[in-house]
Amino acid sequence: MQTTEEKIKVHRDAQRRYKLSQAGKEAELKYRQTPKYKISAGKSSIKCKEKWGIWNMVNRVIKSGIILRHNCEICGKEQALAHHDDYADPFNIRWFCVKHHSQYHKNLI
Ligand SMILES: [Zn+2]
Ligand SMILES: [Zn+2]
Repeated sequence: MQTTEEKIKVHRDAQRRYKLSQAGKEAELKYRQTPKYKISAGKSSIKCKEKWGIWNMVNRVIKSGIILRHNCEICGKEQALAHHDDYADPFNIRWFCVKHHSQYHKNLI
């Protein structure tokens, strides 16, 4: 009699073996050709990479003191977040506190 844990382990081992097998590799390749895979892969990699690249760059610039951290432009609270209306223009930064930043994104201000 197998316990649930043992069953899961057997299942995982079988899946791992399947992935390493010729049939498993072919199934994976076939899946990568489907529009569904291409859409999901494109969405997660391209957009995030672009935004993270800009974030890293802006953070470095802020830390090095080239851009000074501003206060929230609505309420004047310190430690505001850098917001970009347009990621194509990374130095066009607006400053909002956490509360006003989320309101701005919800088009409340
Ligand atoms: Zn604010
Ligand atoms: Zn923002």
